[in-house]
Amino acid sequence: MRLPICGACLESEKLCEACSERLKNNEIKHSDVELARAMTKVSEQHPQLEKAEFLKTHAVDDVFVVEVPKGSAGQIIGRKGALIKELCTHMGKRIKVVEETNEKRDFVEKVLNPAKMKGLTVGDNSFKIYVDKMDEKRVGNKEPFEKIFSEIMNGKVEIVFG
Ligand SMILES: [Zn+2]
Repeated sequence: MRLPICGACLESEKLCEACSERLKNNEIKHSDVELARAMTKVSEQHPQLEKAEFLKTHAVDDVFVVEVPKGSAGQIIGRKGALIKELCTHMGKRIKVVEETNEKRDFVEKVLNPAKMKGLTVGDNSFKIYVDKMDEKRVGNKEPFEKIFSEIMNGKVEIVFG
């Protein structure tokens, strides 16, 4: 497993000096540390997870988005979603796995999946993302998604069901 913190920090509650420094310099985020520790813990029972790696995380409230290298989503999701289910339970979060993409629109669509994005309009430093009304329940509380998308898109994002 290639993870953003050292082996000692994966096992302990505290971060060593070197890893703390990387956190302070924004090379890694708290959510990266959280996921790396959860993956280490879950892989004790599910060694298949050791093949998984991730690039970035975006966490707001109970929504946790994990960006993984192209073609590798299956490794963290597992057979029939077994691994990701364990991770969700362990972390108490709704984890969304997305393969890396340079297209912001593509990123948004993948995070919302299986809810379907119908359209995206661009305003003055703001965006509106239209999602089918039928999918409102699938998205649930939209606020964490709006916050994560705002961070990705560098502007205010509003999700509109209709
Ligand atoms: Zn460390």
